[in-house]
Amino acid sequence: MVMDTFETVLKEKGQDQEHLRQECICPDCPTYNDCARDAKELIYCIVGRSPSCITDDLGCTCPGCPVTVELGLVYQTFCILGSEAEQRSAEKTG
Ligand code: SF4
Ligand code: SF4
Repeated sequence: MVMDTFETVLKEKGQDQEHLRQECICPDCPTYNDCARDAKELIYCIVGRSPSCITDDLGCTCPGCPVTVELGLVYQTFCILGSEAEQRSAEKTG
């Protein structure tokens, strides 16, 4: 199986979440809220949905995030729809 950028880079950087957290621009997004800020939630693209803070989609700034380029992400709105890996596997299984 040929691994694309996301799968390769995630393997290499899987343990380096602190670096990705520093680059995450979720706090600048209209969908991000005080609850998520207080819970220090970040990098939904890796960790998946916001457990309880975010439910309303007010737009997503992920496409402008350095992590999107770095990991080759193709999805967005991870805080509501799930991580990149989850959305990819949902697409595969239908
Ligand atoms: S792509 Fe989105 S969820 Fe992932 S680090 Fe960037 S802003 Fe945060
Ligand atoms: S995942 Fe996207 S929609 Fe959710 S807070 Fe981050 S930038 Fe906003």
